[in-house]
Amino acid sequence: MDIEAHLASYAARSDQSAGRRYDEPSPSSRTEFQRDRDRIIHSAAFRRLEYKTQVFVNHEGDLFRTRLTHSIEVAQIARSIARNLHLNEDLVEAISLAHDLGHTPFGHAGQDALNACMQDYGGFEHNLQSLRTVDALEQRYGAFDGLNLTFETREGILKHCSLKNARKLGDVGLRFIEKQQPSLEAQLANLADEIAYNNHDIDDGLRSGLLTTTQLDEIDFYARHRDEVELAYPGITGRRAINETIRRMINALIVDLIDTSRRRIVDAGVVTLSDVRNAPQLIAFSDHMQVEASLLKRFLRENLYRHYQVNRMTSKARRIVTELFDAFMEEPMLLPPDYQVTITDDAEKTRHSQARQIADYIAGMTDRYAIREHKRLFLIDEM
Ligand code: MG
Repeated sequence: MDIEAHLASYAARSDQSAGRRYDEPSPSSRTEFQRDRDRIIHSAAFRRLEYKTQVFVNHEGDLFRTRLTHSIEVAQIARSIARNLHLNEDLVEAISLAHDLGHTPFGHAGQDALNACMQDYGGFEHNLQSLRTVDALEQRYGAFDGLNLTFETREGILKHCSLKNARKLGDVGLRFIEKQQPSLEAQLANLADEIAYNNHDIDDGLRSGLLTTTQLDEIDFYARHRDEVELAYPGITGRRAINETIRRMINALIVDLIDTSRRRIVDAGVVTLSDVRNAPQLIAFSDHMQVEASLLKRFLRENLYRHYQVNRMTSKARRIVTELFDAFMEEPMLLPPDYQVTITDDAEKTRHSQARQIADYIAGMTDRYAIREHKRLFLIDEM
């Protein structure tokens, strides 16, 4: 039975995959993309997402999103849109679950700090690190390093990258050089990510008390849905009113994305996946919704991501990551043996590969592991 028979002609199909880096026999009871998804779920990097920050540090509260719950929400949104557009649900699920695997502890603060530390050694970028995680860092299989995922999943994980890096990456880098689009499934996972984090950051922002509903009332998109809710349920208040409002916002974004993308796909006249690659981006919000979404983003940037209490955590996070990196560079002997590189005659090269190992070590840390490791290195009575 062809379990992908219902897919649109321009969807990515398992049996037409560009393949894996190491040849493997086809799976017998699932598709290639289902196998990718399963490998991702069983990886150590995936489990670590549970203890990595999205915006709030993991120990700040039990109800805040972590990278794990965020990734699951992204997968949920992406799958329901994929089903509507007859795209490959298994592929969007695999990409969504893997999209944040390369994130450092402490969210963007951690990534920025590590990138600054790595300036002389090729930089650090979480997208590239997600790919590096599934291509090289996971050690689960006897025959190869990494998870040996299909080209399509790997391409979806690499949302963006510099031309310089694209040239080094081979197959998955090619589209950046040739200015092509990735599959619709990859385009979709990317926007599902945006829908998920904008809405759950508002939710978590309110929950934490760093944002207030009065502030949000200034955002037209929020106010409109709040009005709708108050009209439908007179007297509704508190958490229930907020949840009902955010639920409707997510729904509005999803419906708009489905309608707009469907129209763009028809208008572009794409028939095959290769048409998709040569067309402009087809998965998109309407112009009007694009404006609403960017106002929401701007609101979050100004009021939540730069809130002084978030700044305090960001500043601590930056210090922890930077101090760990500097201490390990100064004395690589402090590193667990797996991360120490063999010293060669080429001092410059040794230093570069040592720096990359340290970046891998730090990027793999959960928030609490990084805090603990920092204590172990800097506090004399901590072992
Ligand atoms: Mg994300």
